Amino acid sequence: MKSMHDMFFRAGIVLRIYPSDRQKEIIRKNGSASRFVYNRLVAVNQEIFLLKKTAHLSPADRDRLSYLKNAYQDAVHIKNAVPFLSGDGIDSDMVLNAIKNYRSAWDMYRKVPGTRLPSFHKKGNDYSYKTSNHYTSKSLKNGIGLFEGSVRFLDKQHIHLPVLGRVRLKGSKQKIESLFNRTSPTRIGSVKIWIDCAGDCFVSLALGSDEPFEAYYPKTESACGIDMNLSNFLTDSEGNVVENPRYLKNSERKLIKAQRKLSNRKKRAEKENRKFYESKGYQEQRLKVAEIHRHISRQRLNFQRTEADKLVKSHDLLSVEDLKVKNLLKNHKVAKAISDVSWGQFLRILEQDCDKRGKLFIRIDPKYTTQTCSACGNVMEGDSRIKLGTEEWTCPKCGVFHLRDVNASVNIRNAGLASFHEAGIALNIT
Ligand SMILES: [Zn+2]
Repeated sequence: MKSMHDMFFRAGIVLRIYPSDRQKEIIRKNGSASRFVYNRLVAVNQEIFLLKKTAHLSPADRDRLSYLKNAYQDAVHIKNAVPFLSGDGIDSDMVLNAIKNYRSAWDMYRKVPGTRLPSFHKKGNDYSYKTSNHYTSKSLKNGIGLFEGSVRFLDKQHIHLPVLGRVRLKGSKQKIESLFNRTSPTRIGSVKIWIDCAGDCFVSLALGSDEPFEAYYPKTESACGIDMNLSNFLTDSEGNVVENPRYLKNSERKLIKAQRKLSNRKKRAEKENRKFYESKGYQEQRLKVAEIHRHISRQRLNFQRTEADKLVKSHDLLSVEDLKVKNLLKNHKVAKAISDVSWGQFLRILEQDCDKRGKLFIRIDPKYTTQTCSACGNVMEGDSRIKLGTEEWTCPKCGVFHLRDVNASVNIRNAGLASFHEAGIALNIT
């Protein structure tokens, strides 16, 4: 039977779950244990890192280093050293997944420039852990699917999860219906279970199949460049400008108010020498703040998904700048505005959607996209450079009038088309 890796189409689905109090306790326990395993590896690896940097190691240091290296290599055996990791209600796959998480964070740090060293996961009010789906040899004979593994749908309202057992679920009816009606085998891969800051529980399932999860969009024979900047959400090469949504600002005002109230309650609890978790007023307000945060991020996600869908539907090729968002974030002045529009998240959604819908997506080098005249190719240099804040300009060479962002997005579109051309890939674009 095909493994998850061999399956052509991937998708993920998030479902709200309603565990009992006992089950919630198990989720919290596994979430804490998962953080414990991860942090243990952070500590071990940081010490290895420091010891390796030291020029002259004492014999004791050398012993310590080899002990740590062993501990890191045999991380799986952490279960033997820490009894509670094999205790009641602990999901053994959670430990393996926490180790895997850490190792992939470490790999990212080593391979992707700009990624930070994996650091300790702080204890917060949310709990999450990952587990895996297994099929027994018996179920493999019957064929794998959504109803056979250790993680399986019992019916449209219930799911079976490892250690937790039967849990009631709720999700988009349409999506669940379409899952139940699939004709090709659909495999469940890794599974994440979490409780968010506001106390609600969710499960996300990674799915794999040889049958697409979404229908491809019809071809439009059109290519589009997208310029992302600070004055609006995006500008495309057809001259469409998408403004930053106003409702986020409204929620932000609400958030600031709620946070102020929270900090007052904190001060009061401190003054009266009460612990935060015992202070009812503080806890109530903390939940309110968490709910506003969640509301804002859901609004933003929804907005980004809608905008991405519109673009993917109307074009065959989407070309964007390979923004070094991280580098831009270092510039303090623009940092807040950028993290606020969260371009990185939007581009990821756009890329995934192109994949799902059978469209092309390309990231191009952002060099000169703003400074080049899209009509004649003249590059504005030296004193004639277009400065930050200039909204419109006229090319001194060919005399064409440009709106800065539209001109940039046309350049981005052309650069995207050019790189396909250079690679010798013929595109059916008019
Ligand atoms: Zn020109």
